[in-house]
Amino acid sequence: MAGYDAIVVGAGSVGVPITYFLSREGLKVLCVDGGPSPGQGQNKAAIGGVRATHSDPAKILLCKESLRIFSAWKDKTGTDIGWKMGGYCFPAFREQEEQTLRSLLPIQKKHKLSIDFLSPKEIEKDVPGIQKKGLRGGTLSPEDGQVSPLLAIESFTNEAKRLGAEFRFGEPVTSLLMEGNAVAGIKTAKGEFKAPITVNAAGAAATAVCRMAGIDIPVRPDSHEAGITAPVKQFLRPLVVDIRPGPEGKTSNFYFGQVHGGQFIFCYTPRQLFYGEDRRSTSEFMPTIARRMAELMPRLRGLTVRRVWRGLYPMTPDGVAVVGKPSKVQGFYVAIGMCGQGFMLGPGVGANVANHIIKGKPLIDSDVFALLSPDRDFTAAKTEKLK
Ligand SMILES: Cc1cc2nc3c(=O)[nH]c(=O)nc-3n(C[C@H](O)[C@H](O)[C@H](O)COP(=O)(O)OP(=O)(O)OC[C@H]3O[C@@H](n4cnc5c(N)ncnc54)[C@H](O)[C@@H]3O)c2cc1C
Repeated sequence: MAGYDAIVVGAGSVGVPITYFLSREGLKVLCVDGGPSPGQGQNKAAIGGVRATHSDPAKILLCKESLRIFSAWKDKTGTDIGWKMGGYCFPAFREQEEQTLRSLLPIQKKHKLSIDFLSPKEIEKDVPGIQKKGLRGGTLSPEDGQVSPLLAIESFTNEAKRLGAEFRFGEPVTSLLMEGNAVAGIKTAKGEFKAPITVNAAGAAATAVCRMAGIDIPVRPDSHEAGITAPVKQFLRPLVVDIRPGPEGKTSNFYFGQVHGGQFIFCYTPRQLFYGEDRRSTSEFMPTIARRMAELMPRLRGLTVRRVWRGLYPMTPDGVAVVGKPSKVQGFYVAIGMCGQGFMLGPGVGANVANHIIKGKPLIDSDVFALLSPDRDFTAAKTEKLK
């Protein structure tokens, strides 16, 4: 039986950065995943948007840290992970969206985020070809950006290995080794592995891994579809998010951007969420999103779509990630329930969880970190209220 300082369950958007940051601090780390290679869960489903311009303080601080890490990655490691600092643009066509966007500015500015509400002319400059009719302006946050989830996870894995981390793939964790109320390691079909710390970063399957430790934290996946086109010459810097509900009655918002390689990547949020783990593409996705994109930006009409896919958001009842040490179990951390933002949260969560494990406190303000506590109340009443 091999001994490690820490074991991470899940080599995804969050588990791999945690493995990297723990290894960087000199810990002997094992990262185990049921998939054949890193990122085969929901990491590869993400479209790679990374922004700090949220309204929730924990997301703001963690994503600020992620942006710092992603944007400096190439200089630090020599590996290009597709970082493109093009910002996020939320255009407004109706008074209600303008008000919503403006109402978020005070908290975003309080955290010193670069974001402003711009005039229609300025938005047209940043989003060339956007529908002018009814455009009231919109927010632009130029320091947000995009990263390739596929390139990033490969590079984080390689760097973690270089620092001594071990990875085991094709080996789902089937149970946790319990010693009283302490987790002492993991069990897979191939053996038992011991460590004083085990981190649950199992994404959409996180509830099952929590139950192995005797605790119940609700992470319920719902599915979202996305697609990517063939590349065209770069002409769009920001990722564009239209928060209007679609006239067709199926979409609540949609977003798209041009990635570092020139491809357009796109996604929408269905008005009626699809709960469960079904990842088969639907026939309505492409016609629905194509209509919305062409209506917002007619010049996108000629793009060639290369592929579409469907992945899962690991959702929590209150829409907030669950990160920290559950008080009922010893030797166990969770970094789960990332909802639709696990890729952008990954490095920030990884750095904070590693600091918490090693130094007993997060890097960000402890009171803000505590908002993510696994000990918080997840009752049904709250779920309904916050949905
Ligand atoms: C269409 C779409 C677009 C998205 N776009 C974005 C975006 O632009 N930006 C963003 O930040 N987020 C985005 N997301 C969300 C993002 O993909 C997820 O929030 C994120 O990947 C979750 O990270 P995770 O590490 O928790 O889970 P994952 O990346 O899924 O990793 C969990 C890993 O745990 C493994 N695992 C599970 N159970 C076990 C077990 N018992 N034993 C061993 N291994 C196990 C899985 O195999 C998996 O590899 C998008 C999601 C979708 C579907």
